[in-house]
Amino acid sequence: MSDPGRAARAADIAAGLAAARERIAKAAAAAGRSASEVNLVVVTKTFPATDVALLAELGCREVGENRDQEARNKRAELSDASALRWHMIGQLQTNKARSVLSWADVVESVDRPELVEALDAAAARRERVLDVLIQVNLDVDPRPGRGGVLPKDLPMLSEAVLSAPSLRLRGLMGVAPHPGDPAAAFDRLAGDWQELRRAAPQATVLSAGMSDDLEAAVAAGATQVRLGSAVLGYRVRVQ
Ligand SMILES: *Cc1c(COP(=O)(O)O)cnc(C)c1O
Repeated sequence: MSDPGRAARAADIAAGLAAARERIAKAAAAAGRSASEVNLVVVTKTFPATDVALLAELGCREVGENRDQEARNKRAELSDASALRWHMIGQLQTNKARSVLSWADVVESVDRPELVEALDAAAARRERVLDVLIQVNLDVDPRPGRGGVLPKDLPMLSEAVLSAPSLRLRGLMGVAPHPGDPAAAFDRLAGDWQELRRAAPQATVLSAGMSDDLEAAVAAGATQVRLGSAVLGYRVRVQ
């Protein structure tokens, strides 16, 4: 690291990672859980590929992106991109399914039957099985455009994923409501997840918790948190 700008950025990211891991450890301890039960996905949306490379050097193995084209370009810039597991966490149009299969290892934002069909077909075309999570809408008063299946439609959608030969249902994902109480929302999500696991024991992932609410998510039983700003700092583009 002879480039002083790069060394400074590496130090910032290392400090962000250490602070985030500390918060996860404290939240896990408070919930009587082991920190090793909580997987950290660093959300790299809006940040450059050079940050992703630094994260990999610092021992991160999982990154999250929310835009197909941005993620595809970023992955293409990295020499060792396959050392990382890439999560698609953003809303996804069906016509992007094929493109997403070119970079994503897991899609966390499956929220409707048409997307199940499109991803299943795209995965089959590549002769691979794609890991997916179903995103559940946690809003008290759900508005269009926030993403996520309504809780009442979750059984129907999980049936659809379970019968898609090229998809593997790995669990559920949720974003805390705005406005709303994250703890109550994550508890409801955890209840849905427990129920899902009776029919789908392989659905071991509960992806909940972002920089502002990871403690509530870990208390509710999250096995994965998705942290952007807590690790990488403020994003220029707000999303
Ligand atoms: C942006 C984003 C995150 C990370 O948000 P931070 O508040 O920066 O931690 C997590 N999950 C999803 C779905 C996101 O879009």
